[in-house]
Amino acid sequence: MSELLKNHLGGRWTAGTGAGTALVDPVLGTELVRVDATGLDLRGGFAHARETGGAALRAMTYRERAAMLAAAAKVLQSKRDDYYAIATANSGTVKNDSAVDIDGGLYTLSTYARLGDSLGDRRVLLDGEAVRLGKEPLFQSQHLLVPTRGLALLINAFNFPSWGLWEKAAPALLSGVPVVVKPATATAWLTQRMVQDVVDAGVLPSGALSVVCGSSAGLMDALEPLDVVSFTGSADTAALIRSDAAVAQRSVRVNIEADSINSALLLPGEAPGSEAFELLVKEVAREMTQKSGQKCTAIRRVFVPEALYGSASEAIASRLARTTVGNPRNESVRMGALVSRAQLNAVREGLAQLRAQGETLHDGASHALVDADAAVACCVGPTLLGARNAAGSDASDRLHDTEVFGPVATLLPYRDTRHALQLIARGHGSLVASVYGSDAKALADAALGLAPLHGRVHVVSPDVATLHTGHGNVMPQSLHGGPGRAGGGEELGGLRALNFYHRRVAIQASTASLAHLA
Ligand code: NAP
Repeated sequence: MSELLKNHLGGRWTAGTGAGTALVDPVLGTELVRVDATGLDLRGGFAHARETGGAALRAMTYRERAAMLAAAAKVLQSKRDDYYAIATANSGTVKNDSAVDIDGGLYTLSTYARLGDSLGDRRVLLDGEAVRLGKEPLFQSQHLLVPTRGLALLINAFNFPSWGLWEKAAPALLSGVPVVVKPATATAWLTQRMVQDVVDAGVLPSGALSVVCGSSAGLMDALEPLDVVSFTGSADTAALIRSDAAVAQRSVRVNIEADSINSALLLPGEAPGSEAFELLVKEVAREMTQKSGQKCTAIRRVFVPEALYGSASEAIASRLARTTVGNPRNESVRMGALVSRAQLNAVREGLAQLRAQGETLHDGASHALVDADAAVACCVGPTLLGARNAAGSDASDRLHDTEVFGPVATLLPYRDTRHALQLIARGHGSLVASVYGSDAKALADAALGLAPLHGRVHVVSPDVATLHTGHGNVMPQSLHGGPGRAGGGEELGGLRALNFYHRRVAIQASTASLAHLA
């Protein structure tokens, strides 16, 4: 039997008492390691995190915690090769796609180390200016942000075992809040190894960072009122978390990042082959194939003026046709595997649903697998579907509301910008939309039109062709999250991310007392 990974809870490494769940190489089908959380003392471990980890973190200043994050990033940097090997084996990703997760996580951690340093040697944050409460300026109200006294439970999705950990843990730890991470079982190995490396390096106080791998049973029950939960995953699991007694009755604060039918929009007036047209085509093909489309931010719907449907379809399909699919260990392969058999089945089912309402413009089945056995490997070629005409875009409900978490997108023609915005709104709120064009005013108007429906709007014009950071690439400086169906959450956005891990309080006092607060 393969190695059983240990959990880190209550300041010690503990193996579950059950047989465990095997993590499998999605290309070779071989068992890698096992995870198990049976028999863990969750309540005792959570108490240790709150009382020992939380107290030690809160005793530090923001600048000291920022230095702690920088030290953690240094430890992780020195072990990058190990992480790449785990990602190849457990996520089935090619090197460039592993980098999005691993180096994306390290970049985010390092960014928070820098941002935290700018907060200096303080232990609470002022929120705005003091305001007088009466005629005289002697009695005033000052709002403060103080670190919550609970812990942060991070429940993460399978597609970003590194980035998903650090984009949440960095702002939590910087805020002075201890972290318990529960990675998705299918890819828990990388998260577990990173936590192990940082814990063993001794750069964090005991109880500051814990990891529970395996079943989520009992985690929500162990939460107390001042804890927070940051969840990333499917809308179905999000609904369970929202209705859990911890949230519904004990007021545990929750942030949800759920699924999202993200859009790319080519504005009217751009000719086939124009720079804006080519930028859209390139970005769509990249977004569909990066990490085999297993990104919450990936482009799922592509909106083009009706007259450009044919040329956009041909241009995107010809890029997709060049994507080599298969074993990520083969240097000629550009797109690796889906993460598991379950995901492969889910993608096939989702595709069948979409195909009932759209025509196939490029068929993933046309890609022969390189160096991989189709009977074993969880690999699929990229598939582009389309709605043929603007009336078809109106008629096809599923193309607007079905998230296929794989290399699949739909090309949707529209009549005019107003119509495009109406169609995009049928996603009921998304993480990100990108808009392509060459007229700065028209781009700004479209961005404002898209703003209420998205957490981020990514505007691409020829002058930023080589500068823009990518539709699906989540930068720690910008907000990540989205309204409505996307979960209604907010993460990152620079120091804004710290808000979730702090409590806002108004202190009403004499001006003299207020002067001593910060
Ligand atoms: P999932 O099945 O909902 O699982 C997410 C996490 O929740 C896993 O750690 C899972 O553990 C855990 N979980 C399952 N049932 C639970 C319960 N009853 N209570 C507490 N935790 C529970 O989602 P996934 O399949 O891993 O991820 C794919 C989905 O995530 C896609 O829909 C994608 O759009 C979304 N996603 C969103 C973002 C974003 O930032 N908005 C980012 C990435 C992915 P187990 O693995 O052990 O079941």
